[in-house]
Amino acid sequence: MLTDPDCLFCKITAGEIPSDQVYSDEYVVVFKDINPKASVHLLIVPREHIKSLNELEEKHDSLIAHCMRLLPKIAKEQGLDNGFRTVINTGAGGGQEVFHLHIHLLGSNDLGDAWF
Ligand code: AMP
Ligand code: ZN
Repeated sequence: MLTDPDCLFCKITAGEIPSDQVYSDEYVVVFKDINPKASVHLLIVPREHIKSLNELEEKHDSLIAHCMRLLPKIAKEQGLDNGFRTVINTGAGGGQEVFHLHIHLLGSNDLGDAWF
């Protein structure tokens, strides 16, 4: 599996840099965003170093399906019974700051119309 020794999220998924983890398995790690934009703000991060959606290949299909199916389970565990929001920033123009693919999972009682 591809990892990048200089990548922040590779270091976090490897446990070299601490994070506030809420879930992990063979394929992904889920941890709290360090700068939360809602009362629940988690990052779903594949262990494999994929820079962004732009670098996805067919071989990643099962990983992506795994992430998608995980989202509602994590949301439920976090008590987000009324719904949640997912965001994937892609590229500098899309607001991506950490170039290791991740899905933001956001929820609260008052998310409103805000975009993140
Ligand atoms: P993005 O702009 O989509 O690349 O999002 C990167 C996210 O990573 C931001 O919401 C940051 O607050 C978050 N972040 C950066 N460093 C850390 C860290 N060490 N632990 C947890 N979240 C982080
Ligand atoms: Zn990485």
